[in-house]
Amino acid sequence: MKYWNKTLTKMAEYVPGEQPENLEEYIKLNTNESPFPPSKQVLEALKGGCDESLRRYPNPTNIRLRELFAEQNSFSADNVFVGNGSDEIFTLLFRGFIDPGERAVFPYPSYSLYFTLSEANGIKYDKVGLDKKLDVNFDGLLAKDYALAIVANPNNPTGKGVDGKEVREFLKKFKGLLVVDEAYVDFYGETLIGLVKEFDNVVVTRSFSKSYALAGLRVGLAVAHPDIIRGLLKLKDSYNVDRLAEAGALAALRDSRGFSYNLEMVRNNKEYLEEALETLGFETVPSKANFVFTKHASLKAKDLYEALKKRKILVRWFDGPVQSEYLRITVGTMMEIKALVKELREITGNG
Ligand code: PMP
Repeated sequence: MKYWNKTLTKMAEYVPGEQPENLEEYIKLNTNESPFPPSKQVLEALKGGCDESLRRYPNPTNIRLRELFAEQNSFSADNVFVGNGSDEIFTLLFRGFIDPGERAVFPYPSYSLYFTLSEANGIKYDKVGLDKKLDVNFDGLLAKDYALAIVANPNNPTGKGVDGKEVREFLKKFKGLLVVDEAYVDFYGETLIGLVKEFDNVVVTRSFSKSYALAGLRVGLAVAHPDIIRGLLKLKDSYNVDRLAEAGALAALRDSRGFSYNLEMVRNNKEYLEEALETLGFETVPSKANFVFTKHASLKAKDLYEALKKRKILVRWFDGPVQSEYLRITVGTMMEIKALVKELREITGNG
């Protein structure tokens, strides 16, 4: 394109899961959103925020949200940064925490936006394949002097968690910045956030998009040593998270009952889905997230994805050396899962 710079011309595009216009016609199990609506308190806070105060800018660092998250998690507000989704936080890390000539490293497969955002910011990176059990190969992340690594706990698309002991051993040797992306951690609660108190080179990111059912608001958090947080604050746009988003996120953090109830429902539904898939000849990776990564004994994942799409059910299929054998299916409501299982029964000839 005529006006694009070299970076933009060269970079690969991020391909999000399909978001069809006629959404109501589909069962959408392809982007790991919550199957449940945001809580009443959150919706009320959002409506309550729609008043004359919108003519004012938000607090530039969203200090109330930083304070509340810090208080709930035994940190101090200067350990917490609020981003426009965790995606914005990754961008800021690529922009401000790697020098030209340095490299980043990511396990692969993982969240492909890491690659896109690295490229967009002119950062060179390596991908280190997961091992045979689909776990992170930490030795591989130490193969060069990487300036930054992102490990997702649990990982997307596999749903596998990361072993805390292994990360500690890794951190004894790793000289760069380790980002632990915990967008999905709430579903099983095995967080590595405590590492921030032990190591000044760890950033843990969190998201309101999954467990808090607020993907539409775009709020994410980073928890790290105050020096890193100061860097993120220096880099960010003047008002990166808007008033309504902050109000909604604050209400979400306060509603611990609704939050726990939804997590419990997702876990129950996930178990049901896993068992149903097993009876249909699928092998599913044990998941710590709100999705499952699953492959059929004989049918190709891509064919299954296409057959489901024809039947108005969207799941995710990724091209790639490991990924292409699997479907990634978001845990939906019980009704959605039953509809999926019904269609799969027909497609797999178990009807
Ligand atoms: N991390 C991972 C591993 C994800 O899968 C996603 C969503 N697809 C995100 C981060 C994005 O989170 P957010 O909506 O907070 O930007």
